[in-house]
Amino acid sequence: GPDSKLRTDADVEDVYHLGPALGYGGFSKVRLATHRETRKKYAAKIIPLPPRGSATNKYNSSRAMILREVDVIQRLDHPCLVKLHEWYVHDGKLYLIMDLLAGGELLDEVEEHGPLTEPQARGIFLQLLLGVQFMHSIGIVHRDLKLENLLLERQGDIASVKIVDFGFAKKCRDSADECLTTVCGTPEYMAPEVVRGSSKIRAMLEGSPTTESDFTPYSAACDLWSCGVILYMLLSGQPPFSSTSHPRLLRSIVAGRFSFEGPAWKRISPEAQDLIAKLLVVDPRQRLTANAALAHPWMKGSRGSTRSAR
Ligand code: ADP
Ligand code: MG
Repeated sequence: GPDSKLRTDADVEDVYHLGPALGYGGFSKVRLATHRETRKKYAAKIIPLPPRGSATNKYNSSRAMILREVDVIQRLDHPCLVKLHEWYVHDGKLYLIMDLLAGGELLDEVEEHGPLTEPQARGIFLQLLLGVQFMHSIGIVHRDLKLENLLLERQGDIASVKIVDFGFAKKCRDSADECLTTVCGTPEYMAPEVVRGSSKIRAMLEGSPTTESDFTPYSAACDLWSCGVILYMLLSGQPPFSSTSHPRLLRSIVAGRFSFEGPAWKRISPEAQDLIAKLLVVDPRQRLTANAALAHPWMKGSRGSTRSAR
């Protein structure tokens, strides 16, 4: 359309200087990009495209699917989501020119400084929920929310968090099989209905092969499960579901088996635990929506919920 940010077949390197790698994903590389004229700095996400005419790439997405998805992303405009400025298709690759989020991953911040206080966690979680609420309101499901995909705009400033890696991933990660084997690497944030939707996992759990026909479609609710995992981790520094044994981890997710045990949880308010418990609900229909989570008492920041000290 007339508002399209696509610069097709233009050489991205005529416009931007591509610098060092900022990060790597399952099927992409992100590099620092400096606009040659304005000197402004961006992040360029570079994704190899399946060749024209070939059906799909190894992530099962056709070129058309990927490009259609980018068309959706370029309409996403919200302060809690990374902004796409323009994009290029050149030399068999897709280049997404996005806001530079120079503060790195929230994961590193949590790993370095340990669990957050409740007010700090609330500030981050509010931004996460507002971003998710906006995405869901326009029919986009992220499906890969995790601490690695929450980036800080400025180093050490945990008030400036933005969601990355959204929307585009949707089609590529339709299948949980794909997600487990190649892209995500870890199912720690994966909702039970997503786990159950994977035939490979069902076979692993039940010890018997299954048919594709009993695949359960999952919807936006899987993002709220991941939000519950994220809030649990922000407050305690530990994941709610973890095991060195892959099948055991998947079994506890499917059963919704987690606990608020351990020293960290003694300092955490019952309101915070209540919100997490209402997000980590196995039945996606019973799980809080983004709207409902935003209306939860803990989000209001009552004084009773600010006990923990960092
Ligand atoms: P993938 O879809 O392959 O997982 P991501 O979009 O998550 O790719 O990007 C991979 C990594 O690159 C991120 O985890 C992050 O470390 C870095 N990164 C992504 N987007 C940006 C950005 N806008 N600014 C700075 N670093 C980024
Ligand atoms: Mg990612």
